[in-house]
Amino acid sequence: MSDILRSLSPADPADEIGRFAIWDSDAIAEAVGRAREAFPRWRDAGFEERANVLRRFRDLTSERKEELAQLIAREMGKALWDARGEAALLPAKVDVTLEHGMAYAETMIVNASARATFHPRGVLAVLGPFNFPAHLPNGHIVPALATGNCVVFKPSDLTPAVGEWMQRAWRDSGLPPGVFELVQGGAETGQTLALAEDVDGVLFTGSYAVGRALREATLDQPGKLLALEMGGKNAMLVLEDADLELAAAEAALSITATTGQRCSCLSRLFVHHSVLEEMQERLTSILSGLQIGPPLEEGTFMGPLVSRTAFERVQRMRAQAEAAGGERVFRGETLRIAPYIAPGLVRFASTEQTHAYQREELFGPEAALYPIDDLDQGIAAVNDSEYGLAASVMTRSRAHFEHCVGNVRTGILNWNKGTIGASGRLPFGGGGKSGNDRPAGILATVYCTVPQAHLEFEGGLDPEALPTGFPRS
Ligand code: NAD
Repeated sequence: MSDILRSLSPADPADEIGRFAIWDSDAIAEAVGRAREAFPRWRDAGFEERANVLRRFRDLTSERKEELAQLIAREMGKALWDARGEAALLPAKVDVTLEHGMAYAETMIVNASARATFHPRGVLAVLGPFNFPAHLPNGHIVPALATGNCVVFKPSDLTPAVGEWMQRAWRDSGLPPGVFELVQGGAETGQTLALAEDVDGVLFTGSYAVGRALREATLDQPGKLLALEMGGKNAMLVLEDADLELAAAEAALSITATTGQRCSCLSRLFVHHSVLEEMQERLTSILSGLQIGPPLEEGTFMGPLVSRTAFERVQRMRAQAEAAGGERVFRGETLRIAPYIAPGLVRFASTEQTHAYQREELFGPEAALYPIDDLDQGIAAVNDSEYGLAASVMTRSRAHFEHCVGNVRTGILNWNKGTIGASGRLPFGGGGKSGNDRPAGILATVYCTVPQAHLEFEGGLDPEALPTGFPRS
């Protein structure tokens, strides 16, 4: 372990949260080795013993949730209300996994002689993103441990302190040594860990570019599970009969929550032409009133972007809006310096989406408005994307929404709720550049286990059951 990761608060670069040694390949191999060694004992411990440790983790993360929220806000810059929301999801994940998620890994009984059992995969690598540095890795870790796997976790190199916090929480919960290992570092560490021979699966949450690289790098390891949770270019349909007060509030929240840095953030709004002006006015009015400020200050709605690099990337993409044929109809004011950023709105004259600005994930607080004439045109426009994570339909008509169900190709499709709306009791994920159809959320226990099918007979040979021409004794 030689190089050092410095974790600096995006809100104040003088605020150094910590220095963390970057793990080299030998240290990573040792961590994977410890997890491999711990695996048989943890697998055979049985569900109740594992559930008891998980319940202690639940209680402890519940007691320490304010401490975690403060750390998240300080280390990645999301506002306190948002960080508190994230911290509260850790204990909740334990309950939802034990009470509901385990049902998807339970023995399947077909009849007296046909059964399938579900088994842990072994050692699973969890690669976490910066935007939900605790909740999203936790969404893999809890189901993985509950089903009897061991975990080697690499947090984002932008949030190493949250990673250490999680390791402490597991240790304090009495998890046996080796069952949860933490390694620190960036792309190289992630790649080395993912490719390690003794890693049976990679549970990844992050960008399409890195998910794609992982897919390519693991082509010659066909037995290695790859569960990819990647980006989005999420959309909202606002129909003629929508409640516009609700639509504007849900849209504004979905554009700007976590400063636009959620995989489920809204980036494309397809609005019926008859209500487009009003929708734009309402949205502009909300976006111009948002409180942008230091994440740790109570009352702040939106903190800075995670880094200056992220700020520059978002600004570069934003600058392409006009070249893509869009008109900038709202550019919020901000007196603060980078990586603080104001929300923005761009308007296009048709639903044609050909430019990278319209097709790639922005990961900042900005969305584009497009006019539509009818529902089917809107559905086609939503589907005109390589991503497939989340969409919303704003309409008073259940029939219009039901028409979208199954026709809109996203893993999440909400009715009168923004794209960031999600439930821990439901699957989470999408296809295309958003994921490889191994949905997380409540279904995470599915990819954490492998089924084994059994035909089971207690009796002796039944000559009647043998095929014609097969010799009978
Ligand atoms: P990222 O892809 O840059 O990094 C994710 C993780 O992969 C980090 O731990 C990083 O260090 C590691 N990594 C980077 N290069 C690697 C490589 N070559 N091999 C192995 N590991 C590597 O993503 P990010 O910027 O941290 O997070 C933002 C992205 O995550 C956005 O695209 C967002 O949409 C997506 N995301 C998706 C979901 C979801 O559930 N679908 C949730 C949150 C975030």
